[in-house]
Amino acid sequence: MTFSCFGSFRQCKDNRGTQVQGLEIATNNVRLFSYNSLRSATENFHPSKKIGGGGFGVVYKGVLRDGRTVAIKCLSAESKQGTSEFLTEINMISNTRHPNLVQLIGCCVEGVHRILVYEYLENNSLASALLGSKGKPVPLNWTKRAAICLGTASGLAFLHEEAQPPIVHRDIKASNVLIDENLHPKIGDFGLAKLFPDNITHVSTRVAGTIGYLAPEYALLGQLTKKADVYSFGVLILEIVSGSSSSNAAFGEDLLILVEWAWKLREEGRLLDLVDPELTEYPEAEVLRFIKVAFFCIQSAYNQRPNMKQVIEMLSKEVKLNGKLLTKPGVYRPHSSKRSSYGSNITTSSKGKKSVTSTNTTDFHSFQSVSEVVPR
Ligand code: ATP
Repeated sequence: MTFSCFGSFRQCKDNRGTQVQGLEIATNNVRLFSYNSLRSATENFHPSKKIGGGGFGVVYKGVLRDGRTVAIKCLSAESKQGTSEFLTEINMISNTRHPNLVQLIGCCVEGVHRILVYEYLENNSLASALLGSKGKPVPLNWTKRAAICLGTASGLAFLHEEAQPPIVHRDIKASNVLIDENLHPKIGDFGLAKLFPDNITHVSTRVAGTIGYLAPEYALLGQLTKKADVYSFGVLILEIVSGSSSSNAAFGEDLLILVEWAWKLREEGRLLDLVDPELTEYPEAEVLRFIKVAFFCIQSAYNQRPNMKQVIEMLSKEVKLNGKLLTKPGVYRPHSSKRSSYGSNITTSSKGKKSVTSTNTTDFHSFQSVSEVVPR
């Protein structure tokens, strides 16, 4: 049985017109599903229907009674909001629509259950398509990779600049970019952080899949701005170009992580060595341009990073990058205190306000060597 509700703060009715007791909600486009209907859609949440699981809960592939395939995300018990607060957030998420955002189509709030129902994306996540996190990667030539970068940038720019209220994603990474059957990217999991208490979404509890993506000021000081997403997006560009995961400390003799490795290659003037060996043909100037944009995004000091609209312009060749000032990247490495903040200093102002600042400035185009600041 599915429920539908239109208009604000009405009593909810199921598809036979029965009133659902005591459920006052503020939903416009959200379909309300009964627990039973989602149970049958997933064959009683059968393990074979499980397609993933992350910090927010377990995800199942399901087929609704009307034949539509959906992704069903059972939120973990930590999402303890009351029904009306929950539905208010869900309504907001559902009204945030863009071709590069995964569409929420409904939810279930019954007893302790908090379940979200999303459109199903055929090609899984970018992590599995590009990095092979779940088996064989999908072959992605440069044109497709560039389109995935731009599409993801458009979705993120929409969240930052056009969504009302604006949404900071907090967790941009390859497993949260889903890929449809035409290889178009769609950002998932936006707006979910609000459904959980802060200590649940805080990086310390969900750091495993996030290493390498976290802006230093967010990871170290908890300072959350849109520019934290811009940082993560820069890391994503480097992953898309290199076909490597940001969280593997696997590069060079020093076992650098991707951001460190990319910067080292830049210093050594061999940036094209970063490019995925699977990419046998690619336009060098454009690929270098994408890498440069990534460097702008991952600068240590967040106020030096561009906003997502500027990122789109930079990726789309509308802005000349030469001559722009670029500062060193910041890197958060939680498991190694010695190397926790590459190129970043934490400073405390006279009023006690902490900030992460860059230690070096260099002209971007010159590829000059800058001094090593990694404490060893
Ligand atoms: P985290 O909670 O840290 O973000 P995650 O991104 O791996 O981790 P989920 O967003 O819960 O966790 O998703 C888990 C996996 O389920 C995804 O990586 C993807 O493989 C799959 N998945 C999620 N949503 C969909 C969807 N709408 N269509 C197809 N597959 C999906």
